[in-house]
Amino acid sequence: MKTDVTVIGAGAAGLTAAVTAASRGLKVILLEKGERPGRKILASGNGRCNMMNKGFPVYYGDPVFAASVLKQCPLSKIEAFFKEYGLIMTQDPEGRVYPVTYQAISVLSVLKNAARITDVYLNTGFDVSAIYRDHNLFIIRNDRNEEILSEKVIICCGGAAQPKLGGSMDGYRLLGSLGHHIIPVFPSLVSLTTDKKSISGLSGIRIRAAVSLFEGNSLIHQEKGEILFTDYGVSGICIMQCARFTEGRNTHLEINFLEGICDSSEEMISEIQRRQAMLSNLSPVSLFDGVLPEKISYAVMKQAGIPMKGEKAGNLTDNDIRRIAETAKGYKIFITGTRGMDYAQVTAGGADCCEFCPETMESRLTQGLFAAGEVLNVDGDCGGFNLMFAFSSGIIAGESV
Ligand SMILES: Cc1cc2nc3c(=O)[nH]c(=O)nc-3n(C[C@H](O)[C@H](O)[C@H](O)COP(=O)(O)OP(=O)(O)OC[C@H]3O[C@@H](n4cnc5c(N)ncnc54)[C@H](O)[C@@H]3O)c2cc1C
Repeated sequence: MKTDVTVIGAGAAGLTAAVTAASRGLKVILLEKGERPGRKILASGNGRCNMMNKGFPVYYGDPVFAASVLKQCPLSKIEAFFKEYGLIMTQDPEGRVYPVTYQAISVLSVLKNAARITDVYLNTGFDVSAIYRDHNLFIIRNDRNEEILSEKVIICCGGAAQPKLGGSMDGYRLLGSLGHHIIPVFPSLVSLTTDKKSISGLSGIRIRAAVSLFEGNSLIHQEKGEILFTDYGVSGICIMQCARFTEGRNTHLEINFLEGICDSSEEMISEIQRRQAMLSNLSPVSLFDGVLPEKISYAVMKQAGIPMKGEKAGNLTDNDIRRIAETAKGYKIFITGTRGMDYAQVTAGGADCCEFCPETMESRLTQGLFAAGEVLNVDGDCGGFNLMFAFSSGIIAGESV
């Protein structure tokens, strides 16, 4: 079979690239190794699909490249693309954009309709194993030795995160075979595993806090938001956004449970002393009654080295009170790793963006070869940034082939 354009991978980037190219009258084949397209779109945003974000863009890997791509195809242009094919969108007060139905299936249905309308030939169950360049054509093969000849190729194989939703190393391998350099990949936006002692008894607790990530004494990253304690460690958006900074480092978290409640340590100490006088006959844990969940209060006392068996709040020394206040504002949790690619939402690392032109998404090494989406060395924060980059780069590639 011979075609103008072959898009490999029917995810967010591949679907937008294929539709955009086909809408220009090109003959487009969209190859997908899975039985269904867009599995990550369906899983995104807890099934609600947080498609984009109107706030300040937060990208890592190659943020300059990401900014150039989003300048070329900004959010307004992605919105226009989706509106044209029938999707109505809405946004929450934080600027996160969703389909008006708050159902990811709406986004996928509209993309599938758009592919039908524009005559994209979607071939599912086609697992691309190799690409060769032969004169002016690309030869694209699967393991059954089926072959497609194509003038242009757009690689949209995504990243390695969540193999059960199509994540794999394929895109990196295919681009690598055509001479591209791959920045080592690792999981991003993923929960953290921790030492058992500091999370003991806390599984199931959710609490808003400020989180600081340290390597030794060096502050590496800070976040605020809801933390979820689990049996393996910690989770929640603010934790997942720390994960990419733990890679290859020996790190620990310091959690300020009093963020937004009491800013200065001195203020906290005098408040605890006031409570100590009032609750002198009760356990030290009761000093945080009305402020922190009891289990957190207990964990803070334990980490601060306060003996709890039969101890009364009234017997605590000034030194004890200072340690309690300091621990509540900097509760230490030692990171042992992440939950890995199986649980990551996004892959950090990927094809070196320097080897692609952000105005066209074309390879600077091989004419006619393009790439878009997560396969590139761009990963964003939670909140719609990753799909936004996939849609934006997909549209640009589809316009440029
Ligand atoms: C659980 C979860 C929730 C998420 N929530 C959000 C969110 O709310 N907002 C947000 O912005 N981002 C979210 N993300 C991230 C976002 O889904 C991805 O960044 C985005 O889908 C990447 O798009 P892509 O097209 O590059 O790759 P993908 O969507 O992964 O598509 C790649 C496609 O290529 C196919 N493929 C791979 N190799 C081959 C091959 N050899 N031959 C043929 N086909 C192949 C795969 O099967 C897959 O269908 C979430 C991710 C996960 C896992």
